[in-house]
Amino acid sequence: MQPETEVLTVSRDHPEAAALQRAAAILQEGGLVAIPTETVYGLGANALNPQAVARIFQAKGRPADNPLIVHVDSLEMARSLVTDWPELAGRLAAAFWPGPLTLVLPRSERVPDIVTAGGPAVALRMPAHPVALALISAAGMPLAAPSANRSTRPSPTDAAHVLADMNGRIDLVLDGGSATVGIESTVLSLLTDPPLILRPGGISLDQLREIDPRIDYGADHGKASPGTRYRHYAPKAPLRRIAEPPELIREALRLLDRGLRIAVMSHLPLEIAGDGIVMSTLPGDPDGYAAEFYRAVRALDLESPDVILLLDPPSGRGWDAMRDRVLKASGQGGEEPITV
Ligand code: AMP
Ligand code: MG
Repeated sequence: MQPETEVLTVSRDHPEAAALQRAAAILQEGGLVAIPTETVYGLGANALNPQAVARIFQAKGRPADNPLIVHVDSLEMARSLVTDWPELAGRLAAAFWPGPLTLVLPRSERVPDIVTAGGPAVALRMPAHPVALALISAAGMPLAAPSANRSTRPSPTDAAHVLADMNGRIDLVLDGGSATVGIESTVLSLLTDPPLILRPGGISLDQLREIDPRIDYGADHGKASPGTRYRHYAPKAPLRRIAEPPELIREALRLLDRGLRIAVMSHLPLEIAGDGIVMSTLPGDPDGYAAEFYRAVRALDLESPDVILLLDPPSGRGWDAMRDRVLKASGQGGEEPITV
């Protein structure tokens, strides 16, 4: 049996030096540490050590052609990882770093192939979380860190979610409390002019357009970014999207009638009575919904429903990132599900 993963609780705002030193030592030896960030928990390794990064792919069961985001604690560290730092990168970083925006730029030779899945560009982000920033500084290295879940599973927003997927597969979890944003960063490519969004996320299109009004979604933003075509964020039960409340209620009653156990996720309060139903009502605003979404999916999973019915999020632009995640969790918006 694999040894249990060590867990250290850390203060979000004043991370304890002893915990940071322990985590930094593990990273320097090529180990894996799950770290709290404002988006979701990340699974960190030394981005400059290809063997350490290979362990991330192994622990997650992640396909090798899905590149990793590299986390930095300073502009200086970011610039040391790219061959070009355009003026626009500086303005975007000034506006949104630290924060949930990832910038894709031409990589320097310091970045190993395995991090970029062999591609010519590297994705960089400065996380807005005191523990993540302090750890990067203590370790003195950029951290490659995808979400700390097993591949295809919902992203972890609490240390308990990390352990549920990763116990025995990684060296340490730093428990710094719940992720506040709750979904992943926006990935913006600066390789094209105008820059294009490869994945919607914590920073909206409208926010980005305040810095450069020409920024837009990539033609196919669900698939343009490597790795986004794979199955993601999936609960164990099939998740079905339904557009309107009356239709959802009808379908729920029909399935209950057939003796199935069902779960319902909705941003509107729905009145459905019956045994064998679990309801999860999410906040009606996009930020609140994002903060709760993965936690709600994982909580419903534990009830082992036969099917999850989800009321489609609204269609306003502020909901773009959530509609993307919901679509992927339902097995759409990607290619064939992969099994790992
Ligand atoms: P995550 O799984 O949340 O760590 O997100 C990683 C995602 O960021 C990948 O699946 C890609 O969509 C995107 N990404 C990472 N590195 C690159 C890169 N070099 N070029 C384009 N997109 C990238
Ligand atoms: Mg992920």
